[in-house]
Amino acid sequence: MLTSICGINWGDEGKGKMVDYLSESYDIVCRYQGGNNAGHTVINDQGKFILNLLPSGILRENVVNVLGNGMVIDIKHLTEEAGRLREQGIRITPENLKISDKAVITMPYHVLMDCLEEDRLADKKFGSTRRGIAPVYADKYMKKAFRMGDLLHPDRLYARVNDILEWKNLTVTGGYGHAPITAEEVIAYFKKYGEPLKEYICDTGLYLNEANKAGKKIMFEAQLGALRDIDFGIYPYTSSSSTIAAYAPIGAGVPNLKLDKSIGIMKAYSTCVGEGPFTAEYFGEQAEKLRAAGGEYGAATGRPRRVGPFDVVASAYGIRCQGADEVVLTKLDILSCYEELEVCTAYELDGKIIHDFPYPDALDKCKPVFEKVKGWNCDISKCRKKEDLPKEALDYVKYIEKACDCRITYVAVGAERDAVIKL
Ligand code: GDP
Repeated sequence: MLTSICGINWGDEGKGKMVDYLSESYDIVCRYQGGNNAGHTVINDQGKFILNLLPSGILRENVVNVLGNGMVIDIKHLTEEAGRLREQGIRITPENLKISDKAVITMPYHVLMDCLEEDRLADKKFGSTRRGIAPVYADKYMKKAFRMGDLLHPDRLYARVNDILEWKNLTVTGGYGHAPITAEEVIAYFKKYGEPLKEYICDTGLYLNEANKAGKKIMFEAQLGALRDIDFGIYPYTSSSSTIAAYAPIGAGVPNLKLDKSIGIMKAYSTCVGEGPFTAEYFGEQAEKLRAAGGEYGAATGRPRRVGPFDVVASAYGIRCQGADEVVLTKLDILSCYEELEVCTAYELDGKIIHDFPYPDALDKCKPVFEKVKGWNCDISKCRKKEDLPKEALDYVKYIEKACDCRITYVAVGAERDAVIKL
């Protein structure tokens, strides 16, 4: 059984919380794309955890976690993240964490290049998280990256360092006028942060195939939403990897296996971190109210998120991109402070009303068309059954189901593990 949990919107939909919730009945949770550029916040009986690289299944004793080949791994960050979790009482050993030998290593010089480029762009910046993600994916496709499996053959790895740096320093020194990266610092870095990870590195594709044959249940966990996908998102304000469910078997290492189910995680309103078009955006007091209600500040960067009402056009597109068989609507509790809610049901582009998500460039010219729906204006965060929810909240869910042509199977009404209602 292979299930993907993926984001329908711009990210921060609450995927981590839902993976934590749904992983109870899974044996393996596997991250298949991205790096430490985004974060999941998970709150459960054991405490509050921020996960940037580790799959949310790491919080469950019996779940094996995989970092797939589609990922880019900052080995220093991974070491520190695992250290923090261990201090919080979480067990992390080669038995419950397996790292793909084909995953690419994010190096300190990728982080440096990300920062140098954002600084060069100044007010034209893309809103990078400055974690080196675009530069490391670029090197992957230039075939000039180091991979986790290289750490298992240090002599060969260290012999390649000079060749890579000769090329990399052309840009670092010539392009950006920065001091060159030295082989000594790179090798020292591998020794300090790479070598201790050796026991965790393996052919995770082989591991997952065998697990699948043995009837294990495997969950794929995405890190960002459909609208940040490198191909289908709001390019160039996207991530540098494929965030969509169809990529999950590839990024996990099992391109031969087919997904049984795609579960989309969709937020009851809209949020977006960083630059780029965001049609349904609220400003001023309207934004302040929603941001404060939802605590909308990025988990990885602390940046205030841009906010707006639910966007049917963008979400229906996200559902299609993710091939979502079912959808979980999260953070419904946050909308409890409204007597009347707005929903963005269409865009106006050059005087025409459109319902299909357009080419990103056109988004700059799109204006939101809002409809009003009745709110419930009472606390629903303690509701645990469908019958507990006020009629207006259920009507809101039905309204979204119809508008987006999807099946909503759960709603989430709080950050805690049990704050989920099956519909
Ligand atoms: P992810 O990257 O998709 O996992 O999302 P983030 O972790 O960036 O953001 C989701 C935030 O909302 C986290 O702080 C969660 O603890 C919290 N959260 C998730 N679901 C709900 C919910 O239904 N209600 C409330 N109030 N908070 C939620």
